Amino acid sequence: MTGRDERTLQFIYTLRSKGVTDTRVLTAMERIDRAHFIRGTFSDRAYDDMPLPISCGQTISQPSIVGLMTQTLNIGPRDTVLEVGTGSGYQAAILSQLARRVYTIDRYRRLAEAAEARFRELDLHNITVFTGDGSFGLPAQAPFDRILVTAAAEDPPGPLLAQLRMGGIMVVPVGQSDTVQTLIKVTRTDQGFDYDELSPVRFVPLIEGLGQD
Ligand code: SAM
Repeated sequence: MTGRDERTLQFIYTLRSKGVTDTRVLTAMERIDRAHFIRGTFSDRAYDDMPLPISCGQTISQPSIVGLMTQTLNIGPRDTVLEVGTGSGYQAAILSQLARRVYTIDRYRRLAEAAEARFRELDLHNITVFTGDGSFGLPAQAPFDRILVTAAAEDPPGPLLAQLRMGGIMVVPVGQSDTVQTLIKVTRTDQGFDYDELSPVRFVPLIEGLGQD
């Protein structure tokens, strides 16, 4: 077995032990090598189950949280997904293995452009990247079957709720940025929105407006 095979096995084992059991999600996470999304000093920590720093003072999320959020979305092969918070592009790459089309948006142009270049290198052609304030969603591309917010909001942003298709699911960390937040699942029904609390999490905040980089 090569070093990469062994690391991948251990990586998948850790994901399973943290509750990621959906085989489609595990297969996607086996296929998308997290090492492609981490540059520099932290690249040898790519298979550790921890968030790591990326540029613009942001982070690539912890793999088990990426797995649990993706699993909760229960994505079908015909679904259109919006991700708010492209960051390194790792989460969007995993979503791209499960959905028909993925739109991802970050407030930092530098992160959005780097992620776009990575998607091209990896031949991931069903992802479209935008730079902008994702709390307003992407009205021209809406409605979405699934929405994933990978930065913490004080409340689920109204424009994102409005852009969720009937029967759609949104996963979003909610709470103050300097405390532990709660990951919640919002389901749009005929009667309105159902809210389920999933687990405590810690994310960087969802910030208004464009970033400086
Ligand atoms: N999903 C990313 C990945 O796979 O690497 C990790 C995302 S990181 C935890 C959160 C990201 O949300 C940051 O890149 C940050 O710039 C972005 N962000 C924060 N507020 C935003 C906003 N209003 N609109 C778009 N992106 C935002």
